Amino acid sequence: MAQKYGDLANQEVKQAKACLVCDDPAPRYSWTDYSGEGYCLQCGTSYQLKWGEPKGREYPYCNIKNEWLPIMRKYWAETHMSNGSGTFMFWGDYPDQEKGRVRFNEWCDAHNDELPKQEDQESA
Ligand SMILES: [Zn+2]
Repeated sequence: MAQKYGDLANQEVKQAKACLVCDDPAPRYSWTDYSGEGYCLQCGTSYQLKWGEPKGREYPYCNIKNEWLPIMRKYWAETHMSNGSGTFMFWGDYPDQEKGRVRFNEWCDAHNDELPKQEDQESA
C-alpha cells in the first residue's frame, strides 16, 4: 500500500507491539492526517504513535475503543480487508483506507445487532 509520508511513521516505533486486530506481531504503519496517528498497513487499525493524550501512555497505543475491538477482529477474520479507521482529511491520499472504510461500514450495517450499543458512546 502506498504511504503518503513514505516510511516515516515506522521510525517512531521504538518497540513493536502486536496489532490488536490482525495480530501482526510487528505491524508497520503509515501516518494519517491526525498528528501522531498511524494505521496498521495490514488491517487499517489506527494507533497513536506519538503526541497522544493522556500523557504517559506507552506508544503505540490503539485509538479504537475497547468495545469495538471484537467487532474489528471479526471483520478482519472474515474479510482480510482494511477497516479504514483513523483520521483522514483527503481520501484521495489514502485509497486503501477509503475502500476499507466503505467496506467496513457496509459490513457493520449487515452486523448491526452485534455492534456496541449507542449508550456506550460518550456524550458530547
Ligand atoms: Zn493490524
